Amino acid sequence: MEYKSFQKNDIVTVRIEDIGNDGEGIGRAEGYTLFIKDAVIGDIVEARITKCRKNYGYARVEKVVTPSPFRVEPECPFHRQCGGCQIQAMHYGKQLEYKQDKVRGNLIRIGGFSAEQIDAVMEPIVGMEVPWHYRNKAQYPVGYDKNGDLVAGFYAGRTHDIIANTKCPLGPSENQEILEAVLSYMRENHVSAYRETQGSGLVRHVLIRSGFTSGEIMVCLVINAKKLPAAEKLVEKLTKLRLGEGETQSKRIVSISVSVNREKTNVIMGKEIRVLWGNEYIEDSLGVMDCGETNKAWVVSESERITFRISPLSFYQVNPRQTEKLYSLAVQYAELTGRETVWDLYCGIGTISLFMARKAKKVCGVEIISQAIEDAKENARRNGIANASFYVGKAEEVLTDRQLSRPDVIVVDPPRKGCDEKCLETMIAMQPDRIVYVSCDSATLARDLKVLCEGGYKIKRARAVDQFGHTCHVEVIIMMQYCGKEKN
Ligand code: SAH
Repeated sequence: MEYKSFQKNDIVTVRIEDIGNDGEGIGRAEGYTLFIKDAVIGDIVEARITKCRKNYGYARVEKVVTPSPFRVEPECPFHRQCGGCQIQAMHYGKQLEYKQDKVRGNLIRIGGFSAEQIDAVMEPIVGMEVPWHYRNKAQYPVGYDKNGDLVAGFYAGRTHDIIANTKCPLGPSENQEILEAVLSYMRENHVSAYRETQGSGLVRHVLIRSGFTSGEIMVCLVINAKKLPAAEKLVEKLTKLRLGEGETQSKRIVSISVSVNREKTNVIMGKEIRVLWGNEYIEDSLGVMDCGETNKAWVVSESERITFRISPLSFYQVNPRQTEKLYSLAVQYAELTGRETVWDLYCGIGTISLFMARKAKKVCGVEIISQAIEDAKENARRNGIANASFYVGKAEEVLTDRQLSRPDVIVVDPPRKGCDEKCLETMIAMQPDRIVYVSCDSATLARDLKVLCEGGYKIKRARAVDQFGHTCHVEVIIMMQYCGKEKN
């Protein structure tokens, strides 16, 4: 088919018919497919073409001509510039529908499963009751705006320009007060911000982590030097803050630290953490719950709570209320009777491991970050869980290196890039009866499931959990069972 040839900066009127992988709207102008940032499915928009390829192009919304019934007024005035949220202008119910379809589509397209196979096992997505203020962790870049004024906020999409915004509606509201205090300490004590292009200046990022159940808060400044000047002034300012006044929960900063990062890199945290005041970690607790029926209210059973110690460098799920639902599903999908040996690969601070340990004979957790493994061991000890052991190393290497007991169930929860090939091979060779796969990227998940199914596994259950409202990301949990190669 011949398309009318379009050029960069052309303005076209388009009806948005679909949603792309990154939450963008998809529509056609005279047969030419356009991926349009900030357009919502159902909109008619005037869009400016930003890039042309032979069969498709990219564009941005200039004007919404007829708004979609799924379009809502976004909470955040910076939602279009900021790289954090992609679909804030879409009604939350529609966001959930989009994520369910995205997971289903990836499993079919990339995993090579049939639509019938997927529809037979996929349960409805688990959404949030309130999709705001859900994040317990934020890393704010610090720098200068065009006028040379000190700012903190978020990177604009695909750039390292900082949008000065200390009031992100996805995070806890007290983060604003904390950030403003850090900025005023910097101004008063002439502490510079990092200038990325030159590699000069001092403060690069501010990490704020909060325990939503405990009320404990950690503030960590990532600095391009060994020491923070006038550190006692920062401590004085932060410890004076009265956070969460008038709220039911008491919130308090319990840990102030610096992380030394002198590399020219996009990696935010440095490896060395130095405590300026208080503890090196915060604590938080999570519970699991009975989630037998699809539409049942998710109520945490208090007796099943586990307390976790979280260090600045350790991974901890960013949306604790949804994490409780995710872990509840993980425990349920593992179908534990008390006789099983469970491997929890990519275990972080041992969160999934410890919930599994309560219902299994034995759990072995494997994780690459040694500080996280220290946290995991301490977490087991403090919660009186004696049947969980933890190993530092790459999942793919530790598995073959060590004499871990043969698993009946393997749980994997890898980062976005998915499991290493060697890890998948070992899993297949170990032939556990069940594999529970927790994934934050349904594309790499689908790729890995294909390999596991070729190795004799069959998908029995699948469910998406929305951990990241207003973004295009979605978490998925899968249960697979060994069925033998001939049955696939
Ligand atoms: N299951 C945990 C952590 C999941 S995040 C939880 O729910 O909290 C993924 C974890 O995998 C991170 O802690 C990361 O440090 C770890 N990781 C990344 N690559 C790894 C590898 N090759 N082997 C083992 N762990 C790895």
